[in-house]
Amino acid sequence: MVHPFRPLHRGAIFVPGGDSPPRELPAGFHSLELSAVPAQPGWPLALRAKGEGISSVAAQLGTARFDTFINLPNIVGVGGTGAFFSPGAPELSIVSNETWIWSQPWRVNPGTWDFDEVTLTGDAAAIDQAAIAAERERMFQIWSQVTPQPLWRSSFRLPIDDYLQISSTYGARRSYNGGPYSSYHEGVDFSAYGGTPVYASGDGVVVLAETLYVRGGAVIIDHGFGMFSGYYHMSAVHAQVGQAITAGELLGEVGSEGLSSGNHLHWDFLVAETWVNAAAWQAQNLACWILEGWGTPCGEGQ
Ligand SMILES: [Zn+2]
Repeated sequence: MVHPFRPLHRGAIFVPGGDSPPRELPAGFHSLELSAVPAQPGWPLALRAKGEGISSVAAQLGTARFDTFINLPNIVGVGGTGAFFSPGAPELSIVSNETWIWSQPWRVNPGTWDFDEVTLTGDAAAIDQAAIAAERERMFQIWSQVTPQPLWRSSFRLPIDDYLQISSTYGARRSYNGGPYSSYHEGVDFSAYGGTPVYASGDGVVVLAETLYVRGGAVIIDHGFGMFSGYYHMSAVHAQVGQAITAGELLGEVGSEGLSSGNHLHWDFLVAETWVNAAAWQAQNLACWILEGWGTPCGEGQ
């Protein structure tokens, strides 16, 4: 029998697709793969593993929490670092069955970021700060409701076909009226003509469809495993709460509703209550990578 309490191991971490297997694994794990080595701040991250005799798993990368799911032999974890995550070699720690502790560094390279200077004109006092706070609190209540299975069956797509340009990238550092770059852009902005169709980027269930103070015409889709995509500032919403939706279905139309300065779609993506770079999710096809780790075939999508 293998003793479950193993020493910390500092060897090379397993690179997916690489040819060097891990020298040590957490107790009960037969395999363990990480989605991106090295990673970058703001990327969605995932782990997938096979194991036995495991009833609970908690995983953490530095300060970033993973949501973990078990359907033995399959184990899947999804986490997000956020665009202010410090690069370096934070420890990935895994605690299984509440006592078996394992950890190993996971390299995180520095990211490259745009810098947006935002000028606010007009009467700042007219902005309802209490409404902003209340909306934010409500959003996080939605994003904290984790569906413990994947609700998607195929790869994801962009939420808009016909746009003029990406007017602000995920993670762009933001300065307001010449102040410090102390915040970042939490999603991707597509500037587009008003009325341009907006589509679901992946399969899931609609958990919010209404007009909000900050976000204007808004739809949020629960994709399962703690992942949510949001579509904001729309002039019209064509989805209902509770509706099961597939990638490419119409959600609404581009507008400039809510706190917005022109027609655009703000698209955001959260995992484990953290905004992540949806473009990295797409580029790495994490949707299929995670599904395969769950033992589910991944369809072609659109
Ligand atoms: Zn935006």
